[in-house]
Amino acid sequence: MNSALLGPADIRELAAALGVRPTKTLGQNFLHDANTIRRIVRTAALEPAEPVLEVGPGLGSLTLGLLEAGHPVTAVEIDPVLATALPATVAARLPDAPLAVLTADALRLRDLPGPAPTALVANLPYNVAVPVVLHLLERVPTLRAALVLVQAEVADRLAAPPGSKVYGVPSVKAAWYAAATRAGAVSRTVFWPVPNVDSGLVRLVRRRPPQTTASRAQVFAVIDAAFAQRRKMLRSALAPWAGTAAAAETILRAAGVDPTARGETLDVAAFARVAEFG
Ligand code: SAM
Repeated sequence: MNSALLGPADIRELAAALGVRPTKTLGQNFLHDANTIRRIVRTAALEPAEPVLEVGPGLGSLTLGLLEAGHPVTAVEIDPVLATALPATVAARLPDAPLAVLTADALRLRDLPGPAPTALVANLPYNVAVPVVLHLLERVPTLRAALVLVQAEVADRLAAPPGSKVYGVPSVKAAWYAAATRAGAVSRTVFWPVPNVDSGLVRLVRRRPPQTTASRAQVFAVIDAAFAQRRKMLRSALAPWAGTAAAAETILRAAGVDPTARGETLDVAAFARVAEFG
């Protein structure tokens, strides 16, 4: 099939032409499988022509998939060589496609040019995947949903419900902003270079944070304290945050939370109540 998307040979050719040697520090593993790219775009369940924010477009694999499906893309890439090359790569395959490229660190992103993106779709750099998701949900209020490709283990954590083995800080903080669900696995063979971990998709749909008089920062401070010592009962784990174990116990009781429970059993609304009484 004649396709605008990048296959394995295109990826190698582009990388060679640009002198790109993928770095681990920037999590540079490029997708080179058209079926996977189209599956990611389908799984994102976007509205027709919905404007998309993509973090880390790299050589343009997913960017082309999104543009091919009719979505205007704002792409934020930290690597200036990749960011500079992207418009030409896209223009050669999809002339006049609506693409805006920003050379920037997604973790420092504040204002975006062009139509306000309402969805994030990204094959994220694995070492900063969770902070990027949280930062963007906080900083880009127009985002209503996200579909992100991350390390399988991180995908499990983001989507974990309270009480599950892998429930932790990423799960609760993501739950502050959105409902997260696993949306399939992606084989390591569709990346170049091949990563040494498996990958998974997570879909996040924004929802209202729990109603509370505490600020987000206050709630997140309780979450951090509770999981800093996750095997401890909350009255002990929260002692450094509350001042003493006795103070923590009083706050927990006022919030209607069992002081002998562990943080891994609490949902985000319970953490918000604890912060409110703290
Ligand atoms: N989207 C491309 C694909 O699927 O083939 C590349 C994905 S690759 C896993 C991650 C990309 O994120 C790389 O292009 C890397 O340079 C970029 N990146 C890494 N850290 C970043 C950051 N803090 N902000 C923006 N882009 C970043």
